[in-house]
Amino acid sequence: MNFELTKEQAMIRDMVRDFAEKEIKPYAREVDETSTMRIESFEKMAELGLLGIPFPEEYGGSGGDTVSYAIAVEEIGRACGGTGLSYAAAVSLGAAPIYNFGTEEQKREWLVPLAKGETLGAFGLTEPNAGSDAGGTRTTAVIDGDDYVINGEKCWITNAGHARQIIVTAVTGKREDGKKIISSIIVPTNTPGVTINCNYDKMGVRGSNTCEIILQNVRVPRTNLLGDEKRGFSQFLNTLDGGRISIAALSVGIAQSAYEKALKYANEREQFGAPIAKFQAIQFKLADMAMEIELARTLVHKAAWLKDQKKPFAKEAAMAKLFASEMGFRTCNQAIQIHGGSGYMKEYDVERHLRDIKLMEIGEGTSEIQRLVISRLIGC
Ligand SMILES: Cc1cc2nc3c(=O)[nH]c(=O)nc-3n(C[C@H](O)[C@H](O)[C@H](O)COP(=O)(O)OP(=O)(O)OC[C@H]3O[C@@H](n4cnc5c(N)ncnc54)[C@H](O)[C@@H]3O)c2cc1C
Repeated sequence: MNFELTKEQAMIRDMVRDFAEKEIKPYAREVDETSTMRIESFEKMAELGLLGIPFPEEYGGSGGDTVSYAIAVEEIGRACGGTGLSYAAAVSLGAAPIYNFGTEEQKREWLVPLAKGETLGAFGLTEPNAGSDAGGTRTTAVIDGDDYVINGEKCWITNAGHARQIIVTAVTGKREDGKKIISSIIVPTNTPGVTINCNYDKMGVRGSNTCEIILQNVRVPRTNLLGDEKRGFSQFLNTLDGGRISIAALSVGIAQSAYEKALKYANEREQFGAPIAKFQAIQFKLADMAMEIELARTLVHKAAWLKDQKKPFAKEAAMAKLFASEMGFRTCNQAIQIHGGSGYMKEYDVERHLRDIKLMEIGEGTSEIQRLVISRLIGC
Protein backbone atom coordinates (compact mmCIF):
# COMPACT_ATOMS: atom_id res chain seq x y z
CA MET A 1 0.00 0.00 0.00
CA ASN A 2 1.34 3.40 -0.98
CA PHE A 3 -0.22 6.58 0.38
CA GLU A 4 2.05 8.86 -1.62
CA LEU A 5 0.69 10.90 -4.50
CA THR A 6 2.12 9.98 -7.90
CA LYS A 7 4.43 12.48 -9.59
CA GLU A 8 1.55 13.65 -11.82
CA GLN A 9 -0.87 13.99 -8.89
CA ALA A 10 1.67 15.99 -6.86
CA MET A 11 2.32 18.20 -9.90
CA ILE A 12 -1.39 18.90 -10.34
CA ARG A 13 -1.71 19.74 -6.62
CA ASP A 14 1.17 22.21 -6.77
CA MET A 15 0.01 23.75 -10.01
CA VAL A 16 -3.64 24.14 -8.92
CA ARG A 17 -2.63 25.42 -5.48
CA ASP A 18 -0.42 28.08 -7.02
CA PHE A 19 -3.10 29.03 -9.56
CA ALA A 20 -5.87 29.15 -6.94
CA GLU A 21 -3.80 31.30 -4.57
CA LYS A 22 -3.16 33.85 -7.34
CA GLU A 23 -6.31 33.74 -9.45
CA ILE A 24 -9.17 32.59 -7.24
CA LYS A 25 -8.49 33.44 -3.60
CA PRO A 26 -8.10 37.21 -4.17
CA TYR A 27 -11.69 37.33 -5.52
CA ALA A 28 -13.30 35.01 -2.94
CA ARG A 29 -14.73 37.80 -0.81
CA GLU A 30 -15.89 39.83 -3.80
CA VAL A 31 -17.79 36.95 -5.44
CA ASP A 32 -19.41 36.19 -2.08
CA GLU A 33 -20.47 39.81 -1.55
CA THR A 34 -21.74 40.34 -5.08
CA SER A 35 -23.13 36.81 -5.46
CA THR A 36 -21.58 36.40 -8.90
CA MET A 37 -19.69 33.63 -10.59
CA ARG A 38 -16.37 34.94 -11.91
CA ILE A 39 -16.17 33.68 -15.49
CA GLU A 40 -12.54 34.86 -15.90
CA SER A 41 -11.52 32.25 -13.31
CA PHE A 42 -13.08 29.53 -15.44
CA GLU A 43 -11.40 30.82 -18.60
CA LYS A 44 -8.06 30.55 -16.80
CA MET A 45 -8.93 27.08 -15.47
CA ALA A 46 -9.68 26.10 -19.08
CA GLU A 47 -6.24 27.29 -20.22
CA LEU A 48 -4.70 24.96 -17.61
CA GLY A 49 -6.90 22.04 -18.68
CA LEU A 50 -8.57 21.83 -15.27
CA LEU A 51 -12.09 21.38 -16.65
CA GLY A 52 -11.02 18.22 -18.43
CA ILE A 53 -8.83 16.54 -15.80
CA PRO A 54 -10.67 13.19 -15.61
CA PHE A 55 -11.45 12.87 -19.33
CA PRO A 56 -9.23 11.32 -22.02
CA GLU A 57 -7.27 13.55 -24.37
CA GLU A 58 -9.25 12.26 -27.38
CA TYR A 59 -12.29 14.05 -25.89
CA GLY A 60 -10.46 17.28 -25.14
CA GLY A 61 -9.52 16.26 -21.61
CA SER A 62 -6.21 16.15 -19.78
CA GLY A 63 -6.19 12.37 -19.30
CA GLY A 64 -5.81 12.58 -15.53
CA ASP A 65 -7.37 10.35 -12.91
CA THR A 66 -10.12 10.87 -10.34
CA VAL A 67 -7.57 11.33 -7.54
CA SER A 68 -6.02 14.26 -9.46
CA TYR A 69 -9.45 15.74 -10.07
CA ALA A 70 -10.33 15.44 -6.36
CA ILE A 71 -7.06 17.17 -5.49
CA ALA A 72 -7.92 20.00 -7.90
CA VAL A 73 -11.39 20.42 -6.36
CA GLU A 74 -9.84 20.55 -2.88
CA GLU A 75 -7.34 23.21 -3.89
CA ILE A 76 -9.91 25.38 -5.67
CA GLY A 77 -12.32 24.98 -2.74
CA ARG A 78 -9.56 25.94 -0.33
CA ALA A 79 -9.31 29.26 -2.19
CA CYS A 80 -13.06 29.85 -2.69
CA GLY A 81 -15.98 27.58 -1.79
CA GLY A 82 -18.37 29.02 -4.37
CA THR A 83 -15.88 28.73 -7.23
CA GLY A 84 -15.07 25.21 -6.03
CA LEU A 85 -18.74 24.23 -6.20
CA SER A 86 -19.15 25.53 -9.74
CA TYR A 87 -15.94 23.79 -10.79
CA ALA A 88 -17.02 20.47 -9.25
CA ALA A 89 -20.51 20.72 -10.76
CA ALA A 90 -19.13 21.61 -14.21
CA VAL A 91 -16.95 18.48 -14.29
CA SER A 92 -18.91 15.91 -12.24
CA LEU A 93 -22.46 16.88 -13.18
CA GLY A 94 -22.17 18.81 -16.45
CA ALA A 95 -19.57 16.74 -18.29
CA ALA A 96 -19.12 13.32 -16.61
CA PRO A 97 -22.59 11.95 -17.52
CA ILE A 98 -21.89 12.64 -21.20
CA TYR A 99 -18.54 10.87 -20.93
CA ASN A 100 -20.09 7.94 -19.04
CA PHE A 101 -23.31 7.46 -20.99
CA GLY A 102 -23.12 9.53 -24.19
CA THR A 103 -22.88 8.22 -27.74
CA GLU A 104 -19.74 8.94 -29.75
CA GLU A 105 -21.60 11.81 -31.53
CA GLN A 106 -22.77 13.30 -28.23
CA LYS A 107 -19.24 13.15 -26.85
CA ARG A 108 -17.88 14.97 -29.90
CA GLU A 109 -20.65 17.56 -29.87
CA TRP A 110 -20.97 18.25 -26.12
CA LEU A 111 -18.12 16.71 -24.13
CA VAL A 112 -15.16 17.99 -26.13
CA PRO A 113 -15.96 21.71 -25.60
CA LEU A 114 -16.80 21.03 -21.94
CA ALA A 115 -13.52 19.22 -21.30
CA LYS A 116 -11.60 21.98 -23.06
CA GLY A 117 -13.43 24.50 -20.90
CA GLU A 118 -14.84 26.34 -23.91
CA THR A 119 -18.37 25.83 -22.55
CA LEU A 120 -19.95 24.92 -19.21
CA GLY A 121 -22.64 22.35 -18.51
CA ALA A 122 -25.23 21.71 -15.82
CA PHE A 123 -27.30 18.85 -14.48
CA GLY A 124 -30.96 19.44 -13.68
CA LEU A 125 -32.44 16.80 -11.43
CA THR A 126 -34.00 18.71 -8.52
CA GLU A 127 -37.53 20.05 -8.81
CA PRO A 128 -39.80 21.85 -6.34
CA ASN A 129 -41.42 18.48 -5.52
CA ALA A 130 -38.47 16.18 -6.18
CA GLY A 131 -35.41 16.71 -3.99
CA SER A 132 -34.18 13.70 -2.04
CA ASP A 133 -36.95 11.71 -3.69
CA ALA A 134 -36.07 11.93 -7.37
CA GLY A 135 -38.97 9.57 -8.03
CA GLY A 136 -41.17 12.63 -7.50
CA THR A 137 -39.96 14.10 -10.80
CA ARG A 138 -42.82 15.81 -12.62
CA THR A 139 -41.00 17.15 -15.66
CA THR A 140 -42.17 15.15 -18.66
CA ALA A 141 -40.64 14.42 -22.05
CA VAL A 142 -43.12 13.17 -24.63
CA ILE A 143 -42.09 11.77 -27.99
CA ASP A 144 -43.49 13.67 -30.96
CA GLY A 145 -42.09 12.47 -34.30
CA ASP A 146 -38.31 12.77 -34.11
CA ASP A 147 -38.40 15.03 -31.06
CA TYR A 148 -38.98 15.04 -27.33
CA VAL A 149 -41.30 17.77 -26.10
CA ILE A 150 -40.30 18.68 -22.55
CA ASN A 151 -42.38 20.49 -19.94
CA GLY A 152 -41.51 21.11 -16.31
CA GLU A 153 -39.49 23.04 -13.80
CA LYS A 154 -36.10 22.54 -12.16
CA CYS A 155 -34.74 24.40 -9.15
CA TRP A 156 -31.32 25.26 -7.67
CA ILE A 157 -29.34 24.10 -10.69
CA THR A 158 -25.65 24.98 -10.46
CA ASN A 159 -24.08 26.76 -13.46
CA ALA A 160 -27.32 26.76 -15.50
CA GLY A 161 -27.03 30.50 -16.21
CA HIS A 162 -23.68 29.96 -17.94
CA ALA A 163 -24.34 26.55 -19.47
CA ARG A 164 -24.46 25.74 -23.19
CA GLN A 165 -26.60 22.72 -22.36
CA ILE A 166 -28.31 21.18 -19.34
CA ILE A 167 -28.81 17.48 -18.79
CA VAL A 168 -32.42 17.36 -17.66
CA THR A 169 -34.15 14.41 -16.04
CA ALA A 170 -37.73 13.85 -17.16
CA VAL A 171 -40.47 11.24 -16.97
CA THR A 172 -40.67 9.47 -20.33
CA GLY A 173 -43.12 6.69 -19.47
CA LYS A 174 -44.27 4.10 -16.94
CA ARG A 175 -42.88 0.69 -16.10
CA GLU A 176 -45.08 -2.39 -15.85
CA ASP A 177 -45.13 -2.02 -12.06
CA GLY A 178 -46.50 1.51 -12.47
CA LYS A 179 -43.27 3.28 -11.50
CA LYS A 180 -42.08 6.21 -13.57
CA ILE A 181 -39.40 5.78 -16.21
CA ILE A 182 -37.05 8.71 -15.75
CA SER A 183 -34.61 9.51 -18.54
CA SER A 184 -31.82 12.04 -19.03
CA ILE A 185 -31.99 14.36 -22.02
CA ILE A 186 -29.49 16.95 -23.23
CA VAL A 187 -31.23 20.31 -23.60
CA PRO A 188 -29.31 23.16 -25.30
CA THR A 189 -30.05 26.28 -23.27
CA ASN A 190 -30.81 28.33 -26.39
CA THR A 191 -33.76 26.10 -27.33
CA PRO A 192 -37.06 28.04 -27.54
CA GLY A 193 -39.14 27.49 -24.39
CA VAL A 194 -36.16 27.33 -21.99
CA THR A 195 -36.23 30.08 -19.35
CA ILE A 196 -33.40 30.35 -16.82
CA ASN A 197 -33.67 32.64 -13.78
CA CYS A 198 -30.67 33.03 -11.50
CA ASN A 199 -32.06 35.22 -8.73
CA TYR A 200 -31.64 33.06 -5.63
CA ASP A 201 -30.21 34.89 -2.62
CA LYS A 202 -28.09 32.11 -1.11
CA MET A 203 -26.60 31.73 2.37
CA GLY A 204 -23.22 30.58 1.03
CA VAL A 205 -21.31 29.36 -2.03
CA ARG A 206 -22.41 32.69 -3.45
CA GLY A 207 -19.64 32.69 -6.01
CA SER A 208 -21.40 29.83 -7.76
CA ASN A 209 -24.29 30.32 -10.15
CA THR A 210 -27.60 28.74 -9.06
CA CYS A 211 -30.74 28.91 -11.18
CA GLU A 212 -34.33 27.96 -11.70
CA ILE A 213 -35.16 26.45 -15.10
CA ILE A 214 -38.58 26.54 -16.67
CA LEU A 215 -39.23 24.27 -19.65
CA GLN A 216 -42.29 25.06 -21.74
CA ASN A 217 -42.88 22.90 -24.81
CA VAL A 218 -39.14 22.58 -25.30
CA ARG A 219 -38.47 20.55 -28.42
CA VAL A 220 -35.17 18.67 -28.75
CA PRO A 221 -34.26 15.84 -31.14
CA ARG A 222 -34.67 12.29 -29.81
CA THR A 223 -30.97 11.83 -30.46
CA ASN A 224 -30.40 14.07 -27.40
CA LEU A 225 -31.46 11.23 -25.13
CA LEU A 226 -28.48 10.45 -22.90
CA GLY A 227 -27.79 6.76 -22.52
CA ASP A 228 -30.53 4.21 -22.06
CA GLU A 229 -34.06 5.66 -21.89
CA LYS A 230 -35.11 3.09 -19.27
CA ARG A 231 -31.98 3.42 -17.14
CA GLY A 232 -32.00 7.16 -16.61
CA PHE A 233 -32.60 6.67 -12.89
CA SER A 234 -29.59 4.41 -12.32
CA GLN A 235 -27.53 6.67 -14.58
CA PHE A 236 -28.09 9.70 -12.43
CA LEU A 237 -27.51 7.69 -9.26
CA ASN A 238 -24.15 6.74 -10.77
CA THR A 239 -23.53 10.40 -11.66
CA LEU A 240 -24.23 11.38 -8.05
CA ASP A 241 -21.84 8.69 -6.75
CA GLY A 242 -19.05 10.37 -8.72
CA GLY A 243 -20.23 13.85 -7.75
CA ARG A 244 -20.08 12.92 -4.07
CA ILE A 245 -16.33 12.41 -4.28
CA SER A 246 -16.00 15.99 -5.51
CA ILE A 247 -18.31 17.43 -2.82
CA ALA A 248 -16.25 15.54 -0.23
CA ALA A 249 -13.03 16.97 -1.73
CA LEU A 250 -14.56 20.45 -1.71
CA SER A 251 -15.47 20.02 1.97
CA VAL A 252 -11.86 19.11 2.75
CA GLY A 253 -10.64 22.22 0.90
CA ILE A 254 -12.98 24.59 2.75
CA ALA A 255 -12.16 22.92 6.09
CA GLN A 256 -8.42 23.15 5.37
CA SER A 257 -8.72 26.87 4.76
CA ALA A 258 -10.70 27.44 7.99
CA TYR A 259 -8.18 25.35 9.94
CA GLU A 260 -5.18 27.24 8.55
CA LYS A 261 -6.76 30.57 9.50
CA ALA A 262 -7.63 29.31 12.99
CA LEU A 263 -4.09 28.00 13.57
CA LYS A 264 -2.55 31.28 12.45
CA TYR A 265 -4.93 33.34 14.57
CA ALA A 266 -4.39 31.13 17.63
CA ASN A 267 -0.63 31.67 17.43
CA GLU A 268 -1.02 35.45 17.04
CA ARG A 269 -3.85 36.34 19.41
CA GLU A 270 -2.74 36.88 22.99
CA GLN A 271 -4.93 36.71 26.08
CA PHE A 272 -3.87 36.29 29.71
CA GLY A 273 -0.31 37.11 28.61
CA ALA A 274 0.09 34.25 26.13
CA PRO A 275 -0.95 33.27 22.59
CA ILE A 276 -4.28 31.45 22.86
CA ALA A 277 -2.60 28.50 21.06
CA LYS A 278 -0.84 27.83 24.36
CA PHE A 279 -4.17 27.03 26.06
CA GLN A 280 -4.97 23.35 25.94
CA ALA A 281 -8.65 24.00 25.17
CA ILE A 282 -7.59 25.72 21.92
CA GLN A 283 -4.82 23.21 21.17
CA PHE A 284 -7.27 20.33 21.37
CA LYS A 285 -9.68 22.01 18.99
CA LEU A 286 -6.86 22.46 16.48
CA ALA A 287 -5.62 18.90 17.00
CA ASP A 288 -9.13 17.57 16.32
CA MET A 289 -9.42 19.72 13.20
CA ALA A 290 -6.06 18.51 11.85
CA MET A 291 -6.96 14.88 12.55
CA GLU A 292 -10.43 15.06 11.04
CA ILE A 293 -9.23 16.82 7.89
CA GLU A 294 -6.58 14.14 7.43
CA LEU A 295 -9.17 11.39 7.88
CA ALA A 296 -11.58 12.99 5.43
CA ARG A 297 -8.87 13.54 2.82
CA THR A 298 -7.77 9.91 3.09
CA LEU A 299 -11.37 8.78 2.60
CA VAL A 300 -11.74 11.06 -0.45
CA HIS A 301 -8.56 9.70 -2.01
CA LYS A 302 -9.63 6.13 -1.31
CA ALA A 303 -13.03 6.60 -2.96
CA ALA A 304 -11.37 8.32 -5.94
CA TRP A 305 -8.76 5.57 -6.19
CA LEU A 306 -11.44 2.86 -6.16
CA LYS A 307 -13.22 4.68 -8.98
CA ASP A 308 -9.97 4.85 -10.94
CA GLN A 309 -9.45 1.11 -10.40
CA LYS A 310 -12.98 0.56 -11.79
CA LYS A 311 -13.94 -1.07 -8.48
CA PRO A 312 -17.24 -0.42 -6.66
CA PHE A 313 -16.96 2.96 -4.95
CA ALA A 314 -20.54 4.03 -4.12
CA LYS A 315 -20.27 3.20 -0.41
CA GLU A 316 -16.88 4.90 0.01
CA ALA A 317 -18.07 7.95 -1.96
CA ALA A 318 -21.13 8.28 0.30
CA MET A 319 -18.97 7.81 3.40
CA ALA A 320 -16.44 10.35 2.18
CA LYS A 321 -19.15 12.89 1.37
CA LEU A 322 -20.96 12.39 4.66
CA PHE A 323 -17.88 12.44 6.86
CA ALA A 324 -16.10 15.27 5.02
CA SER A 325 -19.14 17.58 4.94
CA GLU A 326 -20.01 17.07 8.61
CA MET A 327 -16.34 17.30 9.58
CA GLY A 328 -16.13 20.50 7.52
CA PHE A 329 -19.06 22.01 9.37
CA ARG A 330 -17.48 21.16 12.76
CA THR A 331 -14.13 22.56 11.64
CA CYS A 332 -15.51 25.83 10.27
CA ASN A 333 -17.65 26.28 13.39
CA GLN A 334 -14.62 25.75 15.66
CA ALA A 335 -12.54 28.08 13.48
CA ILE A 336 -15.03 30.86 14.30
CA GLN A 337 -14.89 29.89 17.98
CA ILE A 338 -11.10 30.17 18.00
CA HIS A 339 -11.38 33.62 16.40
CA GLY A 340 -13.86 34.72 19.11
CA GLY A 341 -15.72 37.93 18.16
CA SER A 342 -13.38 38.47 15.21
CA GLY A 343 -14.62 35.19 13.75
CA TYR A 344 -18.12 36.62 13.66
CA MET A 345 -16.89 39.48 11.45
CA LYS A 346 -16.61 39.18 7.67
CA GLU A 347 -13.07 40.54 7.75
CA TYR A 348 -11.62 37.20 8.88
CA ASP A 349 -13.38 35.05 6.24
CA VAL A 350 -14.13 32.15 8.60
CA GLU A 351 -17.81 33.10 8.76
CA ARG A 352 -17.89 32.71 4.96
CA HIS A 353 -16.37 29.25 5.28
CA LEU A 354 -19.16 28.22 7.65
CA ARG A 355 -21.81 29.57 5.26
CA ASP A 356 -20.13 27.82 2.32
CA ILE A 357 -19.60 24.46 4.02
CA LYS A 358 -23.26 24.14 5.06
CA LEU A 359 -24.25 23.40 1.46
CA MET A 360 -22.01 20.31 1.48
CA GLU A 361 -24.37 18.62 3.97
CA ILE A 362 -27.29 19.28 1.58
CA GLY A 363 -26.22 19.16 -2.09
CA GLU A 364 -25.83 15.90 -4.05
CA GLY A 365 -27.77 14.06 -1.38
CA THR A 366 -28.27 15.30 2.17
CA SER A 367 -26.46 13.72 5.15
CA GLU A 368 -29.65 11.78 5.89
CA ILE A 369 -29.67 10.39 2.35
CA GLN A 370 -25.97 9.45 2.58
CA ARG A 371 -26.79 7.47 5.73
CA LEU A 372 -29.61 5.74 3.84
CA VAL A 373 -27.24 4.90 0.97
CA ILE A 374 -24.57 3.55 3.34
CA SER A 375 -27.16 1.56 5.32
CA ARG A 376 -28.33 -0.10 2.11
CA LEU A 377 -24.78 -0.86 0.99
CA ILE A 378 -23.78 -2.47 4.29
CA GLY A 379 -26.76 -4.81 4.07
CA CYS A 380 -29.45 -3.23 6.28
C1 LIG B 1 -26.71 25.82 -3.80
C2 LIG B 1 -27.39 24.60 -4.31
C3 LIG B 1 -26.95 24.03 -5.49
C4 LIG B 1 -27.59 22.90 -6.01
N1 LIG B 1 -27.22 22.40 -7.25
C5 LIG B 1 -27.96 21.41 -7.82
C6 LIG B 1 -27.69 20.98 -9.17
O1 LIG B 1 -26.75 21.45 -9.82
N2 LIG B 1 -28.51 20.04 -9.72
C7 LIG B 1 -29.55 19.49 -9.03
O2 LIG B 1 -30.24 18.66 -9.60
N3 LIG B 1 -29.82 19.86 -7.74
C8 LIG B 1 -29.06 20.82 -7.12
N4 LIG B 1 -29.34 21.22 -5.85
C9 LIG B 1 -30.42 20.58 -5.11
C10 LIG B 1 -29.95 19.65 -4.01
O3 LIG B 1 -29.37 18.51 -4.55
C11 LIG B 1 -31.17 19.35 -3.11
O4 LIG B 1 -31.43 20.51 -2.36
C12 LIG B 1 -30.95 18.16 -2.19
O5 LIG B 1 -30.87 16.97 -2.93
C13 LIG B 1 -32.06 18.02 -1.14
O6 LIG B 1 -33.31 18.10 -1.69
P1 LIG B 1 -34.40 19.12 -1.07
O7 LIG B 1 -33.72 20.43 -0.92
O8 LIG B 1 -35.62 19.09 -1.87
O9 LIG B 1 -34.68 18.59 0.38
P2 LIG B 1 -35.80 17.49 0.82
O10 LIG B 1 -35.66 16.27 -0.01
O11 LIG B 1 -37.13 18.16 0.85
O12 LIG B 1 -35.33 17.19 2.29
C14 LIG B 1 -35.64 17.99 3.41
C15 LIG B 1 -35.10 17.30 4.66
O13 LIG B 1 -35.74 16.00 4.80
C16 LIG B 1 -34.75 14.99 4.84
N5 LIG B 1 -35.24 13.78 4.20
C17 LIG B 1 -35.83 13.66 2.97
N6 LIG B 1 -36.12 12.37 2.71
C18 LIG B 1 -35.69 11.65 3.78
C19 LIG B 1 -35.70 10.27 4.13
N7 LIG B 1 -36.18 9.34 3.29
N8 LIG B 1 -35.19 9.89 5.33
C20 LIG B 1 -34.67 10.81 6.18
N9 LIG B 1 -34.63 12.14 5.91
C21 LIG B 1 -35.13 12.55 4.73
C22 LIG B 1 -33.56 15.57 4.11
O14 LIG B 1 -32.36 14.91 4.47
C23 LIG B 1 -33.60 17.02 4.57
O15 LIG B 1 -33.02 17.12 5.84
C24 LIG B 1 -28.67 22.31 -5.30
C25 LIG B 1 -29.07 22.87 -4.07
C26 LIG B 1 -28.47 24.00 -3.58
C27 LIG B 1 -28.95 24.59 -2.29
